[in-house]
Amino acid sequence: MTINLLNFDAKDLTGFCGEIGERPFRAKQLLRWIHQSGEDNFHGMSNLAKVLREKLSAIAVVKPPHVISEHISADGTRKWLMNMGSGNGVESVFIPETHRSTLCVSSQVGCALECSFCSTGKQGFNRNLSVAEIIGQLWWANKVLATTKKKASSRMNESINKVEQIFPSESNYKVSNVVMMGMGEPLANFENVVSALDLMLDDNAYGLSRRRVTVSTSGLVPAIDRLSKRCPVSLAVSLHAPNDVLRDKLVPINKKYPLKVLLPACRRYLKDGPRNFITFEYIMLAGINDSVSQARELVKLVKDIPCKFNLIPFNSFPNSDYKCSSPEVIRQFRDVLMQADLVSTVRKTRGDDIDAACGQLAGRVFDRTRRTN
Ligand code: SAH
Ligand code: SF4
Repeated sequence: MTINLLNFDAKDLTGFCGEIGERPFRAKQLLRWIHQSGEDNFHGMSNLAKVLREKLSAIAVVKPPHVISEHISADGTRKWLMNMGSGNGVESVFIPETHRSTLCVSSQVGCALECSFCSTGKQGFNRNLSVAEIIGQLWWANKVLATTKKKASSRMNESINKVEQIFPSESNYKVSNVVMMGMGEPLANFENVVSALDLMLDDNAYGLSRRRVTVSTSGLVPAIDRLSKRCPVSLAVSLHAPNDVLRDKLVPINKKYPLKVLLPACRRYLKDGPRNFITFEYIMLAGINDSVSQARELVKLVKDIPCKFNLIPFNSFPNSDYKCSSPEVIRQFRDVLMQADLVSTVRKTRGDDIDAACGQLAGRVFDRTRRTN
């Protein structure tokens, strides 16, 4: 069977090199070729001995998921749909900004947690993504962006005066931040996600700082604790409600890990996490969780936790049951939080014209779970 080296983090790759009779430093060289240079052909890895290149070509591959389609938004956001076999697909989204560029990565085909406002959750769960399928999204994005950059620089030579227009910012050609906010619940695919995170942080691979890599979770408490020990990166928690009665409805996993269990886990995470605050995501649903009194209740709820709020306007999708709060209501809600000294931002909706916004990633999921409803 051919081995896909994209499935290996540094430790696995060192083990693999040992198994094929190679010294550990080869693992470092391989990591750099695969993840820094985006090389998928062993024959192109010029500092490896010819015999080794041949050996690798015979037994291994570097195989990211196959990209079926790419959509580019008027605001520069790009969305890729990747084939995950058996008719399934997941999406990842690249969001360029002035000083950073963020890739939103998926971790599962579908999601079993069935949050009532989420398009992925509505589709049911099919399977976990492998390490290669998770890190392959970042591998692919950097590769495509590097090609785009080459094209842009050759155009730049042609018309040097248009440099600003063509070449807006260096950061637009490389992923500088990763958020695990695509399809799926990352902490429900713990081992594969952690191996992919290790690669994101590894200096021989992507070398991102822990602060620039964010895991977003709906609140799987035991896994939050495990993450703090295994791979503490920035943590975002999808709160969405100021009390258990409402959160039970919006985020059903709350019945298993209610707020009195979730919030202490957030506090514990701060001891090992790279930031001195937790980001709470809060979706703005008209008439459901967006009143001034609910904002006040929220302030009381989080009073013991250093945190910031990210208010996410609800993005609708076909057959969704909710509406987004009006800008005025969102502003009032945010004002209550700000008056209580809680830093709160309203997430800008990007890639609207290509359905690339939060919670709109539909991919294609053939549900394998037996569902009761
Ligand atoms: N499963 C993880 C990460 C993926 S979802 C989680 O739930 O945190 C990433 C974020 O998008 C979460 O905060 C989620 O609540 C939010 N989201 C889901 N559906 C949405 C929608 N329709 N509009 C806006 N945000 C949505
Ligand atoms: Fe799953 Fe997150 Fe969607 Fe909830 S919001 S169904 S946890 S992907």
